[in-house]
Amino acid sequence: MPGYTAPRRDLSFVLFDVLDAEAHWRAMAATREVDRALAEAIVDAGGTLAESAFLPLNASGDAEGCRFDDGAVSTPRGFAQAYRSYAEGGWTGLGGEPAYGGQGMPKMLTVAVEEMFFAANTSLYLYSALSAGAALLISSHGSEAMKQRWLPEIYAGSTTGTMCLTEPQAGSDLGLLRTRAEPLEGDEYSLTGTKIFITGGEHDLTDNIVHLVLARLPDAPEGSRGISLFLVPKVLDDGQRNAVAAGAIEHKMGIRGSATCVLNFDGARGYLIGEPNRGLACMFTMMNYERLSIGLQGLGAGEIAYQNALAYARDRLQGRAPRAEDRRENAAADNLLVHPDVRRLLLTQKAYNEGGRAFAAFVGLQLDIAKFSDDEVAARDAADLVALLTPVAKAYFTDRGFEGTVLAQQVLGGHGYVGEWGLEQFVRDVRIAQIYEGTNGIQAMDLTDRKTARDGGRMAGLFADRVAAFLADGHCPERLRPGLEAALEAFRRSTAFIVEHSAEDPALAGSAACDYLELTGLLAYGWLWAWMVNVAEAGLEEDGADVDFLQGKVATGNFFHARLLPLSATLEQRISSGSASIMALAAQQF
Ligand SMILES: Cc1cc2nc3c(=O)[nH]c(=O)nc-3n(C[C@H](O)[C@H](O)[C@H](O)COP(=O)(O)OP(=O)(O)OC[C@H]3O[C@@H](n4cnc5c(N)ncnc54)[C@H](O)[C@@H]3O)c2cc1C
Repeated sequence: MPGYTAPRRDLSFVLFDVLDAEAHWRAMAATREVDRALAEAIVDAGGTLAESAFLPLNASGDAEGCRFDDGAVSTPRGFAQAYRSYAEGGWTGLGGEPAYGGQGMPKMLTVAVEEMFFAANTSLYLYSALSAGAALLISSHGSEAMKQRWLPEIYAGSTTGTMCLTEPQAGSDLGLLRTRAEPLEGDEYSLTGTKIFITGGEHDLTDNIVHLVLARLPDAPEGSRGISLFLVPKVLDDGQRNAVAAGAIEHKMGIRGSATCVLNFDGARGYLIGEPNRGLACMFTMMNYERLSIGLQGLGAGEIAYQNALAYARDRLQGRAPRAEDRRENAAADNLLVHPDVRRLLLTQKAYNEGGRAFAAFVGLQLDIAKFSDDEVAARDAADLVALLTPVAKAYFTDRGFEGTVLAQQVLGGHGYVGEWGLEQFVRDVRIAQIYEGTNGIQAMDLTDRKTARDGGRMAGLFADRVAAFLADGHCPERLRPGLEAALEAFRRSTAFIVEHSAEDPALAGSAACDYLELTGLLAYGWLWAWMVNVAEAGLEEDGADVDFLQGKVATGNFFHARLLPLSATLEQRISSGSASIMALAAQQF
């Protein structure tokens, strides 16, 4: 069975040595009680639960999958019990509102915990990831009565949540959705329609489920301006089953322990959340939460795949080391770790995983500052950075996560392709993360068109200024400075090109989108790697330094800057080539 050890040491390094989480938490009233000891205890306990209760069910859950029987959905053996342990530990409410039973922990900490659960068992964790997002939506936009009714149950894990957007004819384009909501009495509505691909739409982990559903009121305007949001419980307060039921579950490439349901609403009773026709804006609260969360799925997958590839590379004996000093005496072969190409595979994964972990914590920190800081300017800037970087976190983490699982699979050769070692499951499970929650192409358009071209590059400038400030404040190791400066300039020029030419060329943003998102992610990782190297080098000067860990950091940062960051030049070149080469073919010429 594949192994997994929660990256406790690295999480502490990122949170406390690099991003100085304690200082930020002390500065904000809502997080003042949280300190390093508490945070490390939470990470440790979460890691232990992930390792001991989630991981052992990962492969068996994949093999068994979910079962559908006349509307009822059974999750794989052991899921219900593991979910109960998780719920009883209060993990669903870790970042929840304290006034309703949540624990109010900072987002910077909850992202660390999420990565571990996703790594150990994505399918099982998804039930909770959706629930936490549903709770956030209700706490942000629900009525007081709704909060009191639902939040304590969701935080306690006794009710789960879903996000019901997709319909057969409405995927990326939610303006096409057709589910109808007819007014009944007061704030009650009757919902009719079919949603597809609903994660956790039906299951046997809890008795109740709250569905957060997008639907149209009678006479609603066409398109996305006519969408309203409703809360539809599976079981009504009088104990009756509501008229919502699973019609089928999907048979799919991965995450087979996660029930992906067709949900039929046949006059189901629902309750309006927020204003009529303003539902999509409210739903974005949940969608943005889930986007970062799904990014963490990518990060977790990259980490577990790396750990297993590394363990294999240490044991597997094939070929001789190119350097005589690395060869074992009197042996026919050396382990895979001596081969430069295998090192390239492993270092690429390690550099992306650890860069991503730092980026996740940075985005988490911005979410905390935006929500809790009394400093208005700092809160506004943080909110802008969150808006800009959320699509990057979702898409860049999941693209790198998928790439990482494939690289890890490569380390095992043919043993990575067969089922026994678990690597092929990681590849299959993470693939969906590039697709759902808005495809990575849609994330790239959000970043490039909405958040950059139409914003005149203002938020992109804010991010670039953060990197420039780091370069100016003397903390960038000198040998890494030219590469980081080059990537920053490539980003600034690309931003200016997109802003300048988008109005005259309507196909430009879409043509540049994926490259621009990748450039943004690459710059963020390059910046954070330079920062981490600086901290690690300072740490090595201290008595009792954790030498292997810190030297490993420095060497991995050097690798990132030498081998991965230079891609920024190619990305700029692609972006500045504009839309011509992409739009030239007429439809019949494909
Ligand atoms: C396992 C699984 C779980 C899911 N869970 C949920 C869930 O819980 N709730 C929920 O509501 N949905 C869920 N989904 C649905 C998922 O979010 C959608 O599949 C996804 O958003 C894409 O929609 P689509 O499949 O209709 O693809 P389409 O929208 O048809 O897109 C097809 C391709 O065209 C591209 N494309 C489309 N429009 C544009 C455009 N304007 N510009 C550029 N490119 C474009 C897309 O990027 C994609 O590559 C789930 C799906 C799966 C498979």
